[in-house]
Amino acid sequence: MSDTPSHAQKTPTLAIIGGGIAGLTLTIALLKHAPSIPITLYESASAFGEIGAGVGFEPVMVRTMGLIDPRIAAAFEKCSRGNTVTDPPKWFTVRVGDQRKIVGDEKDGVVLEKSGENKKVRLGEEIFTIPAHRGPRGGIHRAHFLDELVKLVPDGIAQFRKKLAHVTEAEDGSGDAVLHFADGSTAQHSAVLGCDGIKSRTRSLVLGNSDSTAAVFSGKYVYRGLIPMTKAIEIMGEDQPKTPQMYVGYHGHVLTFPIANGTILNVVAFSSRPTWTDPNWVVQTSREDMLEDYKHWSPMVRSIMVNLQSFDIWALFNHLPAPIYYRSSPLICLVGDAAHATTPHQGAGAGMCIEDVYILSELLSQCKSKTDLEEAFRAYDAVRRPRSQKLVKTSREAGMLWEFEGEGVGDDLEALERNATTRMAWLWDHDISTDLQKARAIIEEKISS
Ligand SMILES: Cc1cc2nc3c(=O)[nH]c(=O)nc-3n(C[C@H](O)[C@H](O)[C@H](O)COP(=O)(O)OP(=O)(O)OC[C@H]3O[C@@H](n4cnc5c(N)ncnc54)[C@H](O)[C@@H]3O)c2cc1C
Repeated sequence: MSDTPSHAQKTPTLAIIGGGIAGLTLTIALLKHAPSIPITLYESASAFGEIGAGVGFEPVMVRTMGLIDPRIAAAFEKCSRGNTVTDPPKWFTVRVGDQRKIVGDEKDGVVLEKSGENKKVRLGEEIFTIPAHRGPRGGIHRAHFLDELVKLVPDGIAQFRKKLAHVTEAEDGSGDAVLHFADGSTAQHSAVLGCDGIKSRTRSLVLGNSDSTAAVFSGKYVYRGLIPMTKAIEIMGEDQPKTPQMYVGYHGHVLTFPIANGTILNVVAFSSRPTWTDPNWVVQTSREDMLEDYKHWSPMVRSIMVNLQSFDIWALFNHLPAPIYYRSSPLICLVGDAAHATTPHQGAGAGMCIEDVYILSELLSQCKSKTDLEEAFRAYDAVRRPRSQKLVKTSREAGMLWEFEGEGVGDDLEALERNATTRMAWLWDHDISTDLQKARAIIEEKISS
């Protein structure tokens, strides 16, 4: 018998496509947990970069960051230092921002008379809070977080201006993936980990020309912009800008939360339309057009919009459920938004990237051959697909809920409270270690059968 290992038994090498939150955390995770597997990260841009906006994480996700590598959780904590911590913690304080919800006399501004209590709630006043879990959580500046992640990636791992165009199977009998880049260059690896976001090329290579390949418009779009905290305090008072606020209304809602260690207010203002035909999903707009969307809203919400700095519009697309997250011959596995791009209405799309990375990197750390890689992908797919696709579906529903369109809820604020205060339990109470156990059991079952 030959001493030369067969192609299937050779030490695998991995290509990571895309250096967003998914690709960077996966790189850090594999360097730590699977140091014997060579990896290369290919990024189409000329440098790592995130947009100048906020992103929020809940304790369930920050805990998983720590399981991947305590330095990732530390990066989050560094970026979130200075955020006001309330006791008990609140995800959002919910207020009505839309004047059309006022019942009775316009001057009273009453939007809710609480049944059973002799209590009236006015436009802009707290209706209820959505409690959050205790633990490290909150909003951070995306670019600051990415900068911290980049520091954890040694030189020589990432290659830039490498836009993946196609993947073919190697002709040397290895079954490897040959990556073809837009600049005409190629690279060969045992498998490809597609972290290339919502417009993923790797997704189209895994799913082919199917209904679930391209993301679909969710019916919502969003203005994203920032306000310096000092200005935000002038508009909203001392307390409101320092903790997350949600102003709900008809076919729109506005979120505010502090980022950049409490120095900037992140504003995410949503609106609705039936279709999106522009091939660009991020477009410039005028302040007049933006204000037109909020012409029925309270003076405070309109003042927030008037003071928004460097804002643009993001069309919110999401993926229909993919039947599978990986393919063989050549091996390609989808991670993060490439697998399950979601609307942001439960603030957990990036959190799902983190969970994907934890499970996948743990499974890959046990792989010694290409056969092992496929088994790891199969187990990852089995445990990650149901939870991540549940997020996409429930997030879309949450978007409707926050905009008085929820089925059986509409603009009934008490029904909204009942739904809002219970709907996140499945997401936030999750124990990711049970998923890892399940995935490992799937692999062991195959080995012993
Ligand atoms: C308005 C809004 C608010 C959000 N708020 C939250 C929140 O509060 N909390 C939360 O958890 N999530 C939130 N999300 C979701 C979160 O932003 C995403 O889930 C997350 O950023 C996805 O990361 P990713 O690495 O999978 O993809 P991306 O960040 O899109 O990264 C993909 C990378 O791949 C590169 N790339 C693309 N194609 C190629 C190619 N062919 N070859 C090589 N490289 C390529 C890109 O340049 C990019 O660097 C929000 C999303 C939106 C739109």
